[in-house]
Amino acid sequence: MMAFCTHCWTEIDAALNVCSSCGEDLNSDPRTYEQKLVAALEHPLPEARVRICWLIGENKIQPAVPDLMQIAECDPDLFVRRAALEAMAVLRDPRAAPLLEAISRSDNRFLAAVARRSLDAISSPTGKDLPETKDPFCTTR
Ligand SMILES: [Zn+2]
Repeated sequence: MMAFCTHCWTEIDAALNVCSSCGEDLNSDPRTYEQKLVAALEHPLPEARVRICWLIGENKIQPAVPDLMQIAECDPDLFVRRAALEAMAVLRDPRAAPLLEAISRSDNRFLAAVARRSLDAISSPTGKDLPETKDPFCTTR
């Protein structure tokens, strides 16, 4: 089973109790996986924040939508903002629609295109237009 260290967010063996990358004792933190994921959106590394956004979508963590909206608007890293927009498409939460609409009309063409796709995904009643999501670390860019 695929698991992630809830401290450094490296992929690790789920059977391990101590992270093989950062050495964190994974049983010492009493928060739920979901709580740790949402808290990790403030991770200092953009690569980690991209991965957290993706994981929030994959795990369907609806309470994180306001946090994703904040990131989509304010994160200093474009790829993190894109990851937040893509996660919103997966979560299909109508609360994100006004923000996606606004970003899709912004001057930033890179983000505008992603926001438009996510908005289409949220608006689609069947979900068949849902963009495919992949672990961003398995793609080349
Ligand atoms: Zn770790």
